[in-house]
Amino acid sequence: MSLENLLKAKTGFSSFKKGQKEIMEDVLDYKDVIALLPTGGGKSLCYQLPGYVLEGAVLIVSPLLSLMEDQVQQLRASGEKSVIALNSFLSFSERERLLSLDLNRYKFIFISPEMLQVERWIKKLQSIQIGLFVVDEAHCVSQWGHDFRTDYLKLWKVKESLGGPPSLALTATATRNVIKDIQTFLNMTTPSFHINSVDRPNIAMKVEKLSSNQEKKERLLELLQILRTPGIVYFSSRAKTEAICRYLQDNGIKRIAYYHAGLTQEQRILIQQQFLMDQLDIICCTSAFGMGINKSNVKFVIHYHQPTQLEAYVQEIGRAGRGGNRSIAILLKSKEDAMLPEFIIENELPDPAWISYTVQELVTSYGKLTDLNRVSVKEWMEKAAGEESHWRYLSYQMNEFIKKQGSLSWETIKDCIAFIHTHMEERTTVKRRKLEDFNLWTTAFMCRRKGILRYFDEELISPPVPCCDVCGLDMDYFKGKEKSLSEEETTSLSWQGLLKNIFWQEVEK
Ligand code: ADP
Ligand code: MG
Repeated sequence: MSLENLLKAKTGFSSFKKGQKEIMEDVLDYKDVIALLPTGGGKSLCYQLPGYVLEGAVLIVSPLLSLMEDQVQQLRASGEKSVIALNSFLSFSERERLLSLDLNRYKFIFISPEMLQVERWIKKLQSIQIGLFVVDEAHCVSQWGHDFRTDYLKLWKVKESLGGPPSLALTATATRNVIKDIQTFLNMTTPSFHINSVDRPNIAMKVEKLSSNQEKKERLLELLQILRTPGIVYFSSRAKTEAICRYLQDNGIKRIAYYHAGLTQEQRILIQQQFLMDQLDIICCTSAFGMGINKSNVKFVIHYHQPTQLEAYVQEIGRAGRGGNRSIAILLKSKEDAMLPEFIIENELPDPAWISYTVQELVTSYGKLTDLNRVSVKEWMEKAAGEESHWRYLSYQMNEFIKKQGSLSWETIKDCIAFIHTHMEERTTVKRRKLEDFNLWTTAFMCRRKGILRYFDEELISPPVPCCDVCGLDMDYFKGKEKSLSEEETTSLSWQGLLKNIFWQEVEK
């Protein structure tokens, strides 16, 4: 059966989205593939369709529980029954039950990177044929990216232990350096690259500057009163999602809820479901919400706080307009919050004093370490009272040190601590530079789209209408009632927008 016929038969879609077919052809040729398709570009289909042709199961590594749930549900809704999700959310008895199942029955196996570190699951997976090893959101492998997961760095080993099946790495937001990292850390020697544009022409962009947080809050309320829903509002703190959500509710905004990683899994899944099913119009959330979630009719994404890098911003605004509808991304910036992203960068990594303390305590307890397998992570997290992400970071770095030096002992404690500090400084420097790029983007007198594409080493061929606030933006497009097509067609840029465009092109030369 041709790919076109398979597409029609399995999905009912009559044609491929840009780039999809080429990716699938290479996957079916047993090549390793690194693919960038924009947010909503149809990446899931790139492993689903080949899955029906290839022998064996498709193993999909997916970084987030909510994302996994969403994808499993969509596959099931399309009539696919042979799909299973393995993640740490499963109860003990559920895990035991799944471990006794015959995995040969399943075509699509979703798994979290953490579960792939568990020996029993690896053994289980070794008992079946894996036809394709998929790494979704593959940018998580890069330490410079916005969503680094140390467990992603171990995936190449897992792949090898499963007999080295062909692999497919998928992402929507990767600069050249991140693509290089994907290739290196997933150990793909001669992959075929399918790097498409990150641009989303149907998302207009706007940056609004406000002088105080009070003003920002009021502006958010005003926007939510006039914009067509559904929509998402991003915050960088859990407390703020709750506080502002309450403020909005008190001021008459209904069908709104907050979402962050501090909620229980059950609450999170419930809210996500309510939003997906249009029972909620607005979600106030942290970045914990939405990665890869496929809701087609989101009309706006507002950032109440700015993320620390453009990759994250592009990923987050990409949750708008996935069905192709017109949508808008608005970044609200107030002077009072200007230092917040910097603060986040400084606090992402563990405190140097905590690092020194924990390394010393570990060596005191365990003596000379040649690997960290003897260390009970749970026990140590309790003792050293660190956050889980900090612990993961530390144990990854200690392992790196041990790999380099052979062991960690009293004699090498100082070197190990220095090794980790150097790495932390390097990482913070890169992150600061990325934040600077982002800040420049918000202040530059340049088409926003052009600026983003340039950051990803791309050129903007022709800006869509509407494009962005710099090019000139008619907010009526996004308000209460849909504009008719004829109105849209005759709308041109404002004279200010045109002038800015011309001016900017002059500056470019
Ligand atoms: P992403 O690239 O962000 O992972 P998804 O795989 O979630 O995107 O797909 C986004 C949406 O596009 C889904 O609703 C999917 O069904 C739809 N889609 C994928 N391929 C096609 C196609 N060839 N034609 C029409 N819609 C498609
Ligand atoms: Mg996806």
